[in-house]
Amino acid sequence: MCGIVGYVGHQSALDVVLDGLRRLEYRGYDSAGVAVVTGEDLAVERKAGRLQNLETLLDEVGRDNFAGTVGMGHTRWATHGAPIDRNSHPHRDTTNRVAVVHNGIIENFLALRSELEGLGVEMASDTDTETVAHLVSFAYNEGDTKGDFVASVRKVVNRLEGAFTLVFTNADEPDTVVAARRNSPLVVGVGEDEYFVASDVAAFIAHTKQAVELGQDQMVVLTRSGYQVTDFAGEPAEAKPFTVNWDLSAAEKGGHEYFMLKEIEEQPEALANTLRGHFANGRIVLDEQRLSDQDLRDVDKVFVIACGSAYHSGLVAKYAIEHWTRLPVEVELASEFRYRDPVLDRDTLVVAVSQSGETADTLEAVRHARAQKARVLAVCNTNGAQIPRESDAVLYTHAGPEIGVASTKAFLAQIAANYLVGLALAQARGTKYPDEVAREFHELEAMPEAVQRVLGTIDQVKALGRELADSKAVLFLGRHVGYPVALEGALKLKELAYMHAEGFAAGELKHGPIALIEENLPVVVVMPSPKGRAVLHSKLVSNISEIQARGARTIVIAEEGDETVRPFADHLIEIPAVPTLLQPLISTIPLQVLAAEIATARGYDVDKPRNLAKSVTVE
Ligand code: GLU
Repeated sequence: MCGIVGYVGHQSALDVVLDGLRRLEYRGYDSAGVAVVTGEDLAVERKAGRLQNLETLLDEVGRDNFAGTVGMGHTRWATHGAPIDRNSHPHRDTTNRVAVVHNGIIENFLALRSELEGLGVEMASDTDTETVAHLVSFAYNEGDTKGDFVASVRKVVNRLEGAFTLVFTNADEPDTVVAARRNSPLVVGVGEDEYFVASDVAAFIAHTKQAVELGQDQMVVLTRSGYQVTDFAGEPAEAKPFTVNWDLSAAEKGGHEYFMLKEIEEQPEALANTLRGHFANGRIVLDEQRLSDQDLRDVDKVFVIACGSAYHSGLVAKYAIEHWTRLPVEVELASEFRYRDPVLDRDTLVVAVSQSGETADTLEAVRHARAQKARVLAVCNTNGAQIPRESDAVLYTHAGPEIGVASTKAFLAQIAANYLVGLALAQARGTKYPDEVAREFHELEAMPEAVQRVLGTIDQVKALGRELADSKAVLFLGRHVGYPVALEGALKLKELAYMHAEGFAAGELKHGPIALIEENLPVVVVMPSPKGRAVLHSKLVSNISEIQARGARTIVIAEEGDETVRPFADHLIEIPAVPTLLQPLISTIPLQVLAAEIATARGYDVDKPRNLAKSVTVE
């Protein structure tokens, strides 16, 4: 995920692009860069860190060098290569004539890179993106597409696998910007004799509200006299025009009042991006694997260490990893882990889960584990952060930057990534046949669609949230994988609505918490499928009837068609039927929405809950 802007028109391209990047900075802030076509040349500057660093650099080198009305810019959210100057976009070919900015991941970049190295190209960065600049340059300078910029881009995008929005400028074609997209967003802004491309309308909404959404596998060519959309074969294609009806301040939040609400909606994409590229040639692949298959075979115990929601993602994954690998899995709060002298040795695999990759408690736990010779695998959402740097292997959650303090899309992506770790272990250890690993992966791959369906039905949850806004407390119950979901639901409500909320394993109810039940107390129950684990289901039905008999107001999240539970539910929230172990990926969503709605109804800022910070870099 990153922010991209391209411009062709009559204003200063540098001003338009920088202004656009400012509004897109929420999409990534590892580095920023711009390219402007200046007469016969390309002026390019790039700088690691926030956009401000680039602006300072531009002041130093002089903005006059960027006089031109065609250009583009990028704010990066690194996936390949550390967030440093030379990995910042735009990337260029060796002659500095062709430049490209990219959002996404080119999955076949290693093959493309070695092909280019075979042709004598020396790479200037560690990114997947740079290969594309060289390939377009070769296509433009030789062969059947020689001298044809658009055809050159078309030829190259047809060779790319993965996810990309790509925008190109070419010093030899000073009036043209070419862009293409697959699995990543791209919108065209239509002004008067000026045209824009961007990851998000926020980038150009100050100039025009007329936009066109590019479809999958489409290209667009911008000149001052218009824009042309084609498919990847070069045939004219239809793209959907629309008028933006948000104001400027709402634009960067995708029309939402809060980033968190936008991030809840981005969950299908976050899940799909996290899974993408991790199953190739019939095998699960991790990102940076400095552990051999033999190391994975030697593992005799797994610890998942994490804090907050990431800890809950570990609790969910415990069920799957133990089931798939037959290895014992302990899930530990990172802050407790190293103070209790855990039993670790070189056959222990420690999975460290942290959205930021900088969480101090988790980092210290990782250091402790490594000092005891345990192997560490990081699950993290931030490329090149400290925890992945200090780990033996890494699996990145490609959820994109999460701005809301309360985790939503990163949490879902962490569950998916933990599951991939479980499958990688099962594959190495042979506790699952290859076809079983493949089936589990494909079931995971179907989840973004199920999440999308749940998102389509959340209005009812919102209305319920408003009804519950004055409650004093809310309890959450679940069993099996529904238990950590209950904990996560309670955490969301505490952190956003400042309301007393507790999650319990439903079976524990009679051992104490049932004493809390009083007339009208809302109790949210996460029901397992009546099909998968029938015993669990009937136990929970009994639990609900016990609390209902004591006056609780029951809010039940249950599988569509689960009729047995209906009589016990004061409010029934239905979710699609999915495999038991994957249900947390959808049952969490109504709980996120409920917490956000209760909090906003109480007048709180859900992006910045009091006393909290996004990444906790102190112990
Ligand atoms: N994969 C590219 C990189 O790591 C693009 C990342 C992005 O979307 O910002 O540079």
